Amino acid sequence: MPRKGYKQTEEHKEKNRFVHLKKNLSDETIRKMSEARLGKIPWHKGKTGVYSDETLEKMRIAKLKIWQDENYKQNMKKIHLKENLSEETLQKMREIHLYKHTSPQTEFKKNHIPWNKGKTGIYSEETIGKLREIAKKRFGNKKIHPMYGKHHNRKTRLEMSKVKTGYIPWNKGIKCPQFSGDKHPNWQGGRTSLTIKIRGSFEYRQWRSDIFMRDNFVCQECGQISGNLNAHHIRPFSSIIQYYEITTIEEALNCEALWNINNGITLCEKCHKKIKSSRNKNLVN
Ligand SMILES: [Zn+2]
Repeated sequence: MPRKGYKQTEEHKEKNRFVHLKKNLSDETIRKMSEARLGKIPWHKGKTGVYSDETLEKMRIAKLKIWQDENYKQNMKKIHLKENLSEETLQKMREIHLYKHTSPQTEFKKNHIPWNKGKTGIYSEETIGKLREIAKKRFGNKKIHPMYGKHHNRKTRLEMSKVKTGYIPWNKGIKCPQFSGDKHPNWQGGRTSLTIKIRGSFEYRQWRSDIFMRDNFVCQECGQISGNLNAHHIRPFSSIIQYYEITTIEEALNCEALWNINNGITLCEKCHKKIKSSRNKNLVN
């Protein structure tokens, strides 16, 4: 970085541009540059206010100029549509897609410890809030997704599964407390976990079998005897939970209205589905 007040000559500027774009540089020079950078802490690390507002504005405009450049746009479009690309480039892109990198420096290394491993508080509360907002904006509306309402055909599905066979997802077994539970953008207020807990409880199973016994294991709608029988809540389960403001399993176990046998009826799967679909589908029965 030149000293303050130092003025670059045109020739110097041109040379710098080449260095920046790594144009006209020998392979050895590029290698040396990247070696020098490995493990080196950037000069502006942790510093704020390095650039004046004026400079930042200039940098922003320069970036915008590049992005608005028609040539650049065309090139990016070509890459995106895989038009006019050589077979070699396509192969490289494919390999990257299959998580096989050709460069030893960027490829996935076993036992490599990422810089943020075990560290918490990397992002401030404010930043996490902002990230959450962005995620909500991007994924909150499912209709934005390019595959919304579409399906892959059989051939594509087979190909996709072939690629994924034996591949271990990066997040397998990794827990992320910053985005877990009530901190996740899709958090619904602990609704599911409570109903699952209630459904798994001994009292629920007892309530179910009590209703089956009372109705002699016969569907009360069509009279079917065999097949899968369901114990249906006449007054919806979720409405009771909402009415009594039940938030914990203990409160649910102590709520008599939930376990009232008169609120249950034996139905076969078919009749249950019919009744459920005529009701609001989101309600848990
Ligand atoms: Zn029935």
